[in-house]
Amino acid sequence: MKGVIKINGEHCKGCRYCTEACPAGVIALSADFNRSGYFPAIGKHPEKCTGCAICAHMCPELAIEVYRHNNHGEKPRAAQRKGRK
Ligand code: SF4
Ligand code: SF4
Repeated sequence: MKGVIKINGEHCKGCRYCTEACPAGVIALSADFNRSGYFPAIGKHPEKCTGCAICAHMCPELAIEVYRHNNHGEKPRAAQRKGRK
């Protein structure tokens, strides 16, 4: 299974829950501030993402969306609840 994450950097508070929870080491904090003055999470190693969605479930700000590819060439599907808009 292959996953794709989308992180809303403007909603991120830089708490690091996702960076600590990701078993594949995909996520890191950016070196740049967001508009609220936090260092937001970014997908540093997106090729390693399995689509497990642990990061999205850990995020208190609902800033992460996870999509999963299956092995049949279909479009990626949302793997968890929708994030904040
Ligand atoms: S979906 Fe899983 S592997 Fe992918 S970034 Fe989130 S915690 Fe890491
Ligand atoms: S858990 Fe959410 S708020 Fe915390 S660093 Fe990750 S994306 Fe940002």
